[in-house]
Amino acid sequence: MGTGEYQVCDKCHKEKSIDEFDILKYNGKQYHIHTCKKCRYEIRKAKKNALSNNIDILIKRKYKEIRPERILDLSLTNIEFIEYDEIFVKLIDYRDIWLSNYGRVIKKKDDTYVLAKLGYDSNGAARYVAYKDTYVDGKWVYKKSTIYIAKMVVQEFVFNADMRSNVFIWHKEMNKDDNYYKHLYPLNKEQYRIVKAH
Ligand SMILES: [Zn+2]
Repeated sequence: MGTGEYQVCDKCHKEKSIDEFDILKYNGKQYHIHTCKKCRYEIRKAKKNALSNNIDILIKRKYKEIRPERILDLSLTNIEFIEYDEIFVKLIDYRDIWLSNYGRVIKKKDDTYVLAKLGYDSNGAARYVAYKDTYVDGKWVYKKSTIYIAKMVVQEFVFNADMRSNVFIWHKEMNKDDNYYKHLYPLNKEQYRIVKAH
């Protein structure tokens, strides 16, 4: 239902029906904004993406160096890496578990290396239950322990300047399925709040 009124958008310079422009209330009067709804949507979207890409710049990060002896030789397995930079690193405190910088897990079962199937918690965070070397009543035993994949990828591959405060993990573009180490950001509560608000 057009009112028959038209206005030129100052962004795309197209003449559009007045209904294509949002109304702004100011000093008790109403104005139609001079940028059309479609352009305003595109601007918002671009800003959001820019933030995602700029986190790399805002939050400087370093990556950990991995000792070569911890890296699993994939030729011993039937498992193919998903990208050329994928490496599987032995988790020291756990029994026969290797974690990749893409968040995949390999376990050793009867002398065979297999990809482990991950579970997910109610928030969609990937996790895996493994056996952790634990000190109980004066001796070391393997106890079941849940590994949160994003947290463990950060712990193993990303240098975290303040481990006590930076306990929140931001996934690039809020994609919780993406556990690639370069797309995970350990943040403190305040940084996480700011990034999330954007
Ligand atoms: Zn426009």
